Amino acid sequence: MYTFFGKKIGKDKFLIEGEEFKHLKVRRIRLGEEVGIIWEGNLYRCKLIDLNSKTALCITIELVCVSPPPANVTLIQAVPIEFKTFELIAQKATELGVRKLIPLITKRSYRKVDAIEKKKGRLEKIVKEAMKQSNRPYIMEILSPTHIKDIEPSSDLNILLDNFGDGKCISELPMKGLKSVEIVVGPEGGFTKEEVELLKDKGFITVKLKPNVLRTETASIVGVGIIMNLVSS
Ligand code: SAH
Repeated sequence: MYTFFGKKIGKDKFLIEGEEFKHLKVRRIRLGEEVGIIWEGNLYRCKLIDLNSKTALCITIELVCVSPPPANVTLIQAVPIEFKTFELIAQKATELGVRKLIPLITKRSYRKVDAIEKKKGRLEKIVKEAMKQSNRPYIMEILSPTHIKDIEPSSDLNILLDNFGDGKCISELPMKGLKSVEIVVGPEGGFTKEEVELLKDKGFITVKLKPNVLRTETASIVGVGIIMNLVSS
């Protein structure tokens, strides 16, 4: 079943229009076929009942019960020099159920704040595609780029992924039942020693995932995946 963003019209009907309609045409969905519709944080199983040159009309079969992510996870990701890497991280973070992505500016990250702001629209499009692909009606919000000195540990558990030092093993941290977790990941070139000290002083707990160094995208995706698993198990 392909999923689209729809607009509610009337009690159990949805309209698919604009870019979403183009997407439906590309997928060659025909009258009578079932589609998923995302509307205001919910997913509906619907049937396509009318099609014209600009819009498609669907009728609701049922509201699909999609359980929300087990915890409110915020990914604070140093902006990779290679923007494609950031796009990949945004896509995977959405699939995994991250609720907030904060682009982080560090000494060795991509640092042009205006250029990042300009690319936010592209990231939001990637997030929407990932929501449809993974049938997740929950949006991942992308915040404005934030300098490392301005981030604060504001969740129940605040993790700094650090491939140096004697960070804890992630499975040693008590996570079951936590409502919110924050995870900070460095850029391709890593954090400086001063940045790690700054974040530790602020109260972030250092975690080492593996004895070897992972790429920033691997560290993010694996880190978030493990957190999602540990908070719910
Ligand atoms: N070039 C850097 C590697 C940076 S990897 C170096 O040689 O040190 C990018 C980021 O991914 C790191 O800043 C860290 O946040 C995370 N990371 C990579 N491997 C990790 C590991 N084994 N454990 C925890 N975090 C890791």
